[in-house]
This record gives sequence, C-alpha cells and structure tokens, in this order.
Amino acid sequence: MSQTKPLSTSMRHDCSCSKQRVLEAMTLWGIKDIEEMINEACGENATCQMCGRSYEITLDELKLILDHLKKYQKC
Ligand SMILES: [Zn+2]
Repeated sequence: MSQTKPLSTSMRHDCSCSKQRVLEAMTLWGIKDIEEMINEACGENATCQMCGRSYEITLDELKLILDHLKKYQKC
C-alpha cells in the first residue's frame, strides 16, 4: 500500500532532491557512459526526474562516480 505517487502534474517546489541524490542516481549508469562523458571532457547536467531541477556535474564528480562504479561493477 505504498502507492503514493501523485498523479497531479503540478510542479512541487518541496522536492527533497539534492546534488548528492542526483549523483547517486548516476551511479546506476554504465561505466562506459560515464567514461564517455569524461573523455568528451565536458561536464554533464543531470536533471531530477521528480521536479526537473538541473544540476551541473563536474568532471571531478564524474570521476568519483566512475570510481564508485568500478568498485561495484566488474566489466
Ligand atoms: Zn527534485
């Protein structure tokens, strides 16, 4: 009974997202995806899917994510 997703499309301004959360969401991406971004040497904008807020992800942060992925994924 945990279906609490609101059907209303009105934007909520009390979304509890943070850059940290967005970064955590990016750890679900593939290692290759992150590596490509780093190789292109451009930062990335990650958008919260709940409120649409956009966060700028720096190269350093991409590298941190890559480190994290390599710890938990083997390829
Ligand atoms: Zn949000």
